Amino acid sequence: MHKHMFDPAIRATPRLVGQEQRVPTADGALRRSINLDHAASTPPLVAVREAVDRFVPWYSSIHRGAGYRSQVASRAYEGARAAVADFVDADDDQVVVLVRNTTEALNVLARALPPGLRVLCSSMEHHANLLPWRAHRLEMLPFPDDPAALLETAAATLAGPHPFDLLVVTAASNVTGEVWPIEQLAELAHAHGARIVVDGAQLAPHRPVRMREWGIDFLALSGHKLYAPYGAGALIARRDAIADGVPLLQGGGAVQRVTLDDVVWSDLPDRYEAGSPNVIGAVALGVACDTLAAFGMEELAAHERPLVQRLRAGLRTVPGVQLLDAWQDESIDRLGVCTFTVAGQDHRLVAAALSAEHAIAVRSGAFCAHPLVAHLLGLAPELPSAQVPPDRPTGAVRVSLGLGVDEQQIDAFLAAVGSLAAAGPRLAYAPDAVTRQLVPRDDARDWPELGIRLSGARRGSGAPCL
Ligand code: PMP
Repeated sequence: MHKHMFDPAIRATPRLVGQEQRVPTADGALRRSINLDHAASTPPLVAVREAVDRFVPWYSSIHRGAGYRSQVASRAYEGARAAVADFVDADDDQVVVLVRNTTEALNVLARALPPGLRVLCSSMEHHANLLPWRAHRLEMLPFPDDPAALLETAAATLAGPHPFDLLVVTAASNVTGEVWPIEQLAELAHAHGARIVVDGAQLAPHRPVRMREWGIDFLALSGHKLYAPYGAGALIARRDAIADGVPLLQGGGAVQRVTLDDVVWSDLPDRYEAGSPNVIGAVALGVACDTLAAFGMEELAAHERPLVQRLRAGLRTVPGVQLLDAWQDESIDRLGVCTFTVAGQDHRLVAAALSAEHAIAVRSGAFCAHPLVAHLLGLAPELPSAQVPPDRPTGAVRVSLGLGVDEQQIDAFLAAVGSLAAAGPRLAYAPDAVTRQLVPRDDARDWPELGIRLSGARRGSGAPCL
């Protein structure tokens, strides 16, 4: 395929909905919001929203509908499946199962595979790629200090006396942004007769994913992290492995025949798509895949890398800020996902003040990867939370980049972190009754008037649309 160098004059970065959105800060000002929480979820691409708007008048139930619109919608749904397959370079012997998100994809897979598999799993996983595997015979890899140690331990463990069926890893950490050596891990797994399951939730929005070339057997991803937050995600799986599996979701659409005491499940992929599918979500996901592929994931990565360096270098210069990296080597490829603590400051308060005082959106906590975050914070990963000493932080702040983030936004973020690290928040904070997030104690801000119910807001009391 012909490749361009990243050059905004040749190809503009795909635009996001809401990029100009202004939000109120606690001082009463309206400021353009800086979204640095893309690892949690992304806004839609403008192209995705426009495609959804074009499709909605044609929306209809799919597959079993006789109407013309149902025929169109069925084709759009199957077109989305093909777009996902192309985006991740799936093999012909792999099938795309459309699901809600990465969590569902991995649960569907863990259930579909024969029970009692021997599974070797990394300790740095998101809970979504950890908990479903506990239904099998699970063994955990130790926390690796660098990719070489990871490969070494994985090789030694896979070569042990009891063969493993599966190696389960992330493609990139949602806490540290470190990119994993997937191709080598796949080679190792295969050399020892195992298959590899890869959590692609974080990698897919930032880097090309090449299932065929890298030898990935199973992959999970989420549309809402891939600029298509309409509720669809995907499992891409080897057909032979799940062709006869038990579906996690059981019901209409997944069956060929049902009697009062028996069922014959459908062929792939319907077997794993019981219930009326999320056609609009699938269309959105397919369009996001096509739009990002047309722009070029290599270009996108090339655009992001200097921003990641600027962010990390800047954070390092802030007194009191400690980056939480699992791997120290600066030459390792990292996504725009970076987690840190601020000495003497509660992570929740830092995130709250960045929002209320600076209009900067980040996330704080343990990012659904409790064992990893405990490890990075120097807490024993198996320590029950009740026994964590009260003076030790139990979470951190995560900043994550995506399309539309520029140098000015990173510099504004670094300045805000600098002032918070030096002087702390200006305001006093307390938990919000609805979200339980910290918000300013005397918060006079109105909620926007969106014509929808906002929990906890008085009806008609909203601010005009911002
Ligand atoms: N894996 C990783 C690496 C993630 O970052 C996330 C989302 N934080 C998930 C899995 C779960 O994704 P979802 O919530 O879309 O199911």
